[in-house]
Amino acid sequence: MLDTLHSIMTEVNGARDLDATLDILVRRVRAALQTRVCSVYLLDRSSGRYVLLASQGLDPAAVGKVSLAPQEGLVGLVAQRAEPVNLEVAREHPRYYYLPETREEEYESFLGVPVIQHAQVLGVLVVQQQQRRKFSREDEAFLITLSAQLAPVIALAESKVAAQRGNPVGKPARDPVFAGVPGAPGVAIAQAMTVFIPADLGAIPTRPCGDIAAEVRFFNDCLETVRQDISELKIKIKGQLRPEERELFDAYLHMLADSALGVEVVALIEQGNWAQGALAQVARQHINNFASIDDDYLRERATDIKDLCSRVLYYLQEQQKKQRVYPERCILVCEALSAAMLADVPKGQLVGVVSAEGSAHSHVAILAKAMGMPAVMGVADFPFAELDGHELIVDGHHGRVYSDPSEALRQRYQQIVREEVQLTEELEMLRDLPCETRDGYRVALWVNTGLLTDVLRSRERGAEGIGLFRTEVPFMLRESFPTEDEQTEIYREQLQAFHPKQVTMRTLDIGGDKPLPYFPIDEANPYLGWRGIRVSMDHPELFLAQVRAMLRASVGLDNLQILLPMISKVGEIDSALLLIRRAQRELFEEGYAVRTPPIGVMIEVPAMAWQIDAIVRRADFISVGSNDLTQYMLAVDRNNPRVTGLFSHLHPAVLRVLHKIAGEVTAAGKRLSICGEMAGSPAASVLLMAMGFDILSMNATNLQRVKALLRDVTLVQAQRLLEHALQQEDSEAVETLLEEALQGLGVSRLLQAAREG
Ligand code: PEP
Ligand code: MG
Repeated sequence: MLDTLHSIMTEVNGARDLDATLDILVRRVRAALQTRVCSVYLLDRSSGRYVLLASQGLDPAAVGKVSLAPQEGLVGLVAQRAEPVNLEVAREHPRYYYLPETREEEYESFLGVPVIQHAQVLGVLVVQQQQRRKFSREDEAFLITLSAQLAPVIALAESKVAAQRGNPVGKPARDPVFAGVPGAPGVAIAQAMTVFIPADLGAIPTRPCGDIAAEVRFFNDCLETVRQDISELKIKIKGQLRPEERELFDAYLHMLADSALGVEVVALIEQGNWAQGALAQVARQHINNFASIDDDYLRERATDIKDLCSRVLYYLQEQQKKQRVYPERCILVCEALSAAMLADVPKGQLVGVVSAEGSAHSHVAILAKAMGMPAVMGVADFPFAELDGHELIVDGHHGRVYSDPSEALRQRYQQIVREEVQLTEELEMLRDLPCETRDGYRVALWVNTGLLTDVLRSRERGAEGIGLFRTEVPFMLRESFPTEDEQTEIYREQLQAFHPKQVTMRTLDIGGDKPLPYFPIDEANPYLGWRGIRVSMDHPELFLAQVRAMLRASVGLDNLQILLPMISKVGEIDSALLLIRRAQRELFEEGYAVRTPPIGVMIEVPAMAWQIDAIVRRADFISVGSNDLTQYMLAVDRNNPRVTGLFSHLHPAVLRVLHKIAGEVTAAGKRLSICGEMAGSPAASVLLMAMGFDILSMNATNLQRVKALLRDVTLVQAQRLLEHALQQEDSEAVETLLEEALQGLGVSRLLQAAREG
């Protein structure tokens, strides 16, 4: 059963569009269950009816015409109950409804299962049999399993149809909209540029090619390079191979011959396709053909084709990456966006981002926020390849993306953009005013940075220090570890740009969703694995080089603070301190006049909240990383869009832990800051101030919104609000409380910003 499932899904995944997906499905399921009929009904959202869109066995003339409401017939019953219906004699069921167009009267038995995506019944998959037959439990289990895997494929295929302006039943869909989760606030209207995960054949868009002869030459060169790679590999591992394995290498070379795969790809390029698109199309056809063969050995060849074509694609991409031309105003869209992809766009051209993976708490979203542009994350059904070059509206407030908007929708969003610009300009006036409540309580507002551009924006916004410089960001944008000298230069730029204000540099925090391309960490649970200080302590040479670079960069400026991430036991602080002292000693001996910087510890792992006493004995200051603290307290992967609704820093348990940390650190007389995204949420900032956080460090975009709100309240009001918030039972109750209370204080305009933060 698993093999059949796998083979059906491989074929379905390679289908070019919705019709092909459904046709493969009904054909393969009918054969697998040896039944007379297999049909698929999909929901037409405008009419709320389930329309017969593919069938093997029913009258083909009925396809696209027949439909059932959820109250009608057995198909409707499956949809209504969102449960399978398995009947030996369908006619005897009170919900049986005869559809003359389908000529289904000959069929006695019926098994229907719902296709469910995001708790909505997208469609119904039905098998029918002429003779009386109670479909077995195994048949039922097979269809249920298949339908669960199918749901995202069908949803994506439907999105592609919607993107091409027309929903699956042919009615034009105005303003196709794709739902994700809000990643970074704001709105952008611009042209989409699809970038793809390197060497992913499934993600290649169709694009025309300008110079056909040059494209053919280019493709042939890349093909030749892969042939050479395979020949070299064959020679290199010759002694380790059995004869039949050696034959496999010959088979690969044969597939890669100009006269095999090559000739098909060249034919498509000659029709005007770019090489990557042509290769992907040929690869898809072959993979599908192999995958549908009922022979284990031959089916496996689909994997070989995929591997070989991915190798060719790698070389095509390496070259074409250098030639990529980004639109003037560009919205970057990708299955899994990375920081490096953002950095590849020339300065000033990037205005928004869309990613199928990740959530608001992913580092790419945090980076987008820091750059002041909207991001929509977790748009699972977004047809990336199809929308390359189309106009998009990215609504980062609500987590929505519109493609090819109507004039009316574009105007509505242009108005929102104008209002946002106006609010930002008004807030500009706060730039040089202190962040002081109406009753004279002062809080420091610092910024989080990763790139030099952030530093420049932050200075313009009136930030009073850098509370978190994510040093891994410049590491992520390179192709190898930067040397100590190169790091010194990067750090000196940050320190100088903010001098004499304090700059908090966090030591390398890789792992989780921050991989380095040249230092892969492949783990099943990356957030619970080799991250942050754990990597640094296992690689003291990397840590020492980084700390030496920070200390060297600070000579003569003396505005450096060092921060240690992901501490989960105090021994890690001791080890890190030893290495920092050693770096300092070495530098003294080398003649550098380094001063001892304040060393801080991040509280991100909940256990550490119960060891504040031990931490404050070792650290000069504490900085709470509310992103990770929330993730670990609530057991919600911050990067997983499926559970993003559960991620809330306003969860009462999170608030109580923060309150406890604040109380103990303040009592110990140590400086306390918070540098997670929570600090940049205007509503949450009121609570953090009331708890006693001295420094709120946030993205530059939200800094003035937070300042405006805090200047509008008193400390006494904030403390009262905190008291009530701590008594609530869930995040929603805290949100409502904050909204009502702040509205009552007359700061409703900023509340919009509060919600968006
Ligand atoms: C945090 O976890 O809150 C934090 C500031 O660190 P990062 O987001 O870089 O993991
Ligand atoms: Mg963190």
